[in-house]
Amino acid sequence: MIIDLAHDPAAFRAALRQWLGKVLAPGWREDMESKGGGEDDYIAFQRWWFGECRKQGLILPDLPAELGGAGLSLALQMMVVEEFARAGVPPLKGGMYTVAHTHVPATMLHAASEEQRAAYLPGLIEGDVWCQGFSEPGAGSDLAALRTRAVREGDHFVINGQKLWSSFAAQAKYCLLLARTDPDAPKHKGISYMIMDMASEGVEVRPIKQATGHYEFCELFLTDVRVPAANLIGAENAGWATAQATLAAERGVLAFERVERARRELELYLARAREAGAPWLRREADRAEYAALVARLQAIRRMVRRLLADEGEGASRLPAFIKLLSTQFGQVYSDFRIRVAGLSGQIDRPSLPLSGSEPLHDYLNSFGDTISAGSNEIMRNLIAERMLGLPR
Ligand SMILES: Cc1cc2nc3c(=O)[nH]c(=O)nc-3n(C[C@H](O)[C@H](O)[C@H](O)COP(=O)(O)OP(=O)(O)OC[C@H]3O[C@@H](n4cnc5c(N)ncnc54)[C@H](O)[C@@H]3O)c2cc1C
Repeated sequence: MIIDLAHDPAAFRAALRQWLGKVLAPGWREDMESKGGGEDDYIAFQRWWFGECRKQGLILPDLPAELGGAGLSLALQMMVVEEFARAGVPPLKGGMYTVAHTHVPATMLHAASEEQRAAYLPGLIEGDVWCQGFSEPGAGSDLAALRTRAVREGDHFVINGQKLWSSFAAQAKYCLLLARTDPDAPKHKGISYMIMDMASEGVEVRPIKQATGHYEFCELFLTDVRVPAANLIGAENAGWATAQATLAAERGVLAFERVERARRELELYLARAREAGAPWLRREADRAEYAALVARLQAIRRMVRRLLADEGEGASRLPAFIKLLSTQFGQVYSDFRIRVAGLSGQIDRPSLPLSGSEPLHDYLNSFGDTISAGSNEIMRNLIAERMLGLPR
């Protein structure tokens, strides 16, 4: 396993590079697309890719080894991201494992009991898929307005309600669920956080088709679903604070791979443009725009580093900034690539969401990124009101 070489960074990099050179032959993306690139292929491909990375011990690189993760140093995590980007393979984290690999560990470390950690963390390495059941019709930006009810009956909660935009819920084994346990309390104070087994009776999952043609999102209809009280994460009615821990991870550390990969991709983009003598290199305005993109990305990378190093009190304020700036970056960078490519940039070949190769596809996807985890307007509100102290 490559992970066994973690004590020797040079050997680790060499083994990683060698494995990446073999595991996915160049042209894998085109091969998959020529086979149709349908939803089932996309899901099966993600499972396969997870399995290959798992065989090398690379799953959950940031989780301490005593909790079952790979326990890699930040430098080695960056090396992994760099080598993955260099090889043009899918990201290590992401797609249908995003919630399992980012939201769940952050939530569990924040509030779960020892028993819950022991029960659920090993499954993350085995490939358990999780989904997030936060948003509802009428409770997105105003998440605390959620109306899904959880009523205590002995050692269970009985859940009734509807969730919306739950990514990969159709594949998920468990759901991080927010439900209202005290309808009489002020809205932030009557919410509880629990783990719902998606195979429970009364859980109905309906996938929603997106503009990209894929079906990542789902609606969840919950009718008299029985969730054991032991599945409560943290105290009853104290779910709001735990939800903030989940959202902080989704807005902050989730960006790590995205921005490190973007740095490598920006470098490759320039190198390839030089090799091909791309016309934009002769246009001063385009060169200036490229340079501004690099500067912008460097600033975001610095923020992510500060967050990971937990540099002082200010670090807790960073997720809102990182979410806002990193998703904006995704949008302006794909927009730049579309414009400098000219007509060919307008082609939207059916593409796998994880492939990240088509600028137009990335551009279309970038809008979702500016909305998920709290829209960028909400991030601006948070920054203005809570950090800059501006009036509401
Ligand atoms: C790619 C993607 C993945 C997602 N995955 C999940 C998931 O797995 N689980 C889950 O629970 N949810 C998920 N969501 C849902 C997401 O959290 C919500 O879409 C988001 O919080 C916005 O809520 P809404 O869609 O209800 O929009 P609304 O809250 O109705 O907002 C509509 C518009 O009004 C603006 N707006 C609203 N209030 C304000 C305000 N006070 N000030 C300024 N502007 C405002 C918003 O910015 C937005 O532009 C996902 C969304 C996307 C796009």
